[in-house]
Amino acid sequence: MLSFEREIFLKISLLLALLFPIILYARPDNPYEKFSARANLSKNVIVTWEYADDVDKACAELNKKYNVNPYKVKVLACSMRTAHFLTYDVCHIVTSTFTTMGILGHEIRHCFQNTWPGHPKY
Ligand SMILES: [Zn+2]
Repeated sequence: MLSFEREIFLKISLLLALLFPIILYARPDNPYEKFSARANLSKNVIVTWEYADDVDKACAELNKKYNVNPYKVKVLACSMRTAHFLTYDVCHIVTSTFTTMGILGHEIRHCFQNTWPGHPKY
């Protein structure tokens, strides 16, 4: 039989062990964290926004269309610079039909900055 303290310690350890992967892989972007627009690669971006009920499938099709390796994880959204037109870059965003401002903003940032320090690696 376990002592009360040891039982509590084991329960907390088990809880942390279960939460660790969630904490590690489900780091949502902080919508209030400031970043510099000076990192923008382009000032002129035409954005198109596709929404789909199966965002994984839609992103896989986008990657295939532009010969990009498929994602190794399930995605909430994706974006890709698809063309350059005069002085404009064209960026295509795919989200699920029901999405969030945070997800859409994340993809918009990709359209302007491609990637950034601290962006999760997949
Ligand atoms: Zn991203």
